[in-house]
Amino acid sequence: MHCPICDKEFDENAPKAALPFCSMRCKLIDAARWLDEKYSLPIEPGDDVPSEAFYEP
Ligand SMILES: [Zn+2]
Repeated sequence: MHCPICDKEFDENAPKAALPFCSMRCKLIDAARWLDEKYSLPIEPGDDVPSEAFYEP
């Protein structure tokens, strides 16, 4: 098999839980990349917050 993360050829000695990656490490790297993509979306300034809210006593 071929690991999509580290480009390494590996066989069925890899932990089954890590498939289709060669190791849990690569699986975690993939998960981290996915999360990175999700959370790196630009955060829009909250311009829909009513400005009056800031002037309430
Ligand atoms: Zn790998």
